[in-house]
Amino acid sequence: MIANKKVLMLAGDGIGPEVMVQVSRVMKWMEKHNRVSFDTEDDIIGGACIDNHGVPIKDETIESAKAADAVLLGAVGGPKWDDVDFEIRPEAGLLRIRKDLGLFANLRPAIVFDALAEASSLKSEIVSGLDILIVRELTGGIYFGAPRGVEDLPGGGKRGFNSLVYTTEEVERIARVGFELARKRGKKLCSIDKANVLESTKMWRDEVIRISSDYPDIELSHMLVDNAAMQLVRDPKQFDVIVTTNMFGDILSDCASMATGSLGMLPSASLGAPDNSGKRNALYEPVHGTAPDIAGQGKANPLAMMLSFAMMLRYSFDMEEDANNVESAVKLVLDAGLRTGDIMSDGKELVSTEKMGSAVIEQLEILTAS
Ligand code: NAD
Repeated sequence: MIANKKVLMLAGDGIGPEVMVQVSRVMKWMEKHNRVSFDTEDDIIGGACIDNHGVPIKDETIESAKAADAVLLGAVGGPKWDDVDFEIRPEAGLLRIRKDLGLFANLRPAIVFDALAEASSLKSEIVSGLDILIVRELTGGIYFGAPRGVEDLPGGGKRGFNSLVYTTEEVERIARVGFELARKRGKKLCSIDKANVLESTKMWRDEVIRISSDYPDIELSHMLVDNAAMQLVRDPKQFDVIVTTNMFGDILSDCASMATGSLGMLPSASLGAPDNSGKRNALYEPVHGTAPDIAGQGKANPLAMMLSFAMMLRYSFDMEEDANNVESAVKLVLDAGLRTGDIMSDGKELVSTEKMGSAVIEQLEILTAS
C-alpha cells in the first residue's frame, strides 16, 4: 500500500461541501481496498471562515496547507458575503492560499467525454475525444508587473498602463512544468506567445527553446496567441500540452473549457516549485463556483471534484493507475447514461449528487475487480 498521504480538505461554501463528501467516499473506498492510506484534515475557508473567524482563511490553515502533501478545495463564496469588505471577501482566502503556497503553475485540462460531446458548442466531431492540458503561468506577467496604474495627463485625460514582465527564472520553471507534463502524456508541447510584437514574450520563446534541449523526447512547437485562439475552436485536438503566460492562459483556458460543454465537469490543479526533497505545494479544485442556486438540494455534479481528486493522485502522489481508474469510472458512469441536472439531456437518467458518487464507486469496484 502507498504510504500515508497528508491531505488538507477545504470544502468551502455552497455546493463545495456536497461535492467534497463524494470525494471523501472515494478516498475511503481506496483505503478499504488497501490502495493508499490518507491522513486527512478538514478545515474551513471562504464564507464559512468569515462567519466563524472574521477572515476568509486562518493563518493556521495556511500552515496546515504548507505541511500537507496536497490540498483539496471545493469552492468559496456566495450572495451572503457579497457585501463584505474586499480584503476579507471569500475569494481573498483563495488568492491568499494560492500566493502563500507559491502556486505558479495552473493546470486546466479540457477533456471531452464521448457521452457529453453533444453538449459542446462546437460540432461533436471536432471535440469528440478531446484531451488537452493548458498550463498557465499564475503568479507573474501582466497581472503583477510594475509599473502599473492610471495617471492624469497634463493636458487632460488619463493614461492607464500595465507591464508585461517575465524573468528567466519565471519562464524556466513554468516551461519545465510544461515539458514534464508533456512527457507524462502525448509528448507534444506548444508554447504560446506574441513574439512578433511583445519583446517579453520573444524572450519567453527564446527561453523555452533554450530549455527544450533538456527534453529531446518532447516535440516543441510555438504559436502566436491570436492563431492559438483560432486553432482552439477550429481543431483543438491538434494540441497535447499548451504552456503560456498568465493572461494568455486565462483567456485560452476559458475558451478551451467551453469545448467541453459543462462547468460541472472541469477540474484544475495549481502547483508550486519542488523543494530540495522534491515535495511541491499543490492545490486541486474544480473550476466551478459554489452554485448558490442549487446548493443544499443534492443537485450538484460531483464529477469536476472527482476529476480534481484524480489530478491529485497523478500529480502529487504519482498514482497514475488510480488516477486513470477514477477517470475511467467517471467515463463509464456517463456512458451508462447517468446525469446530474447540469449535463442532463433527453433519454438520460437524472441522478442526485449522492447517486452519482455511488455510481463512480460502483464502477471503481468493477474496474479494479477485473
Ligand atoms: P458557479 O460556477 O457557482 O455557477 C454557475 C452556474 O453553473 C450555476 O447555474 C450553477 O448551478 C452551475 N453549476 C456550477 N457548478 C455546478 C456543479 N458542480 N453542478 C451543477 N451545476 C453547477 O458560478 P457563479 O454563479 O458565477 O458564482 C457563484 C459563487 O461562486 C460566487 O460567490 C462566486 O464568487 C463563487 N465562485 C467561486 C469560485 C471558486 O471558489 N473557485 C469560482 C467561481 C465562482
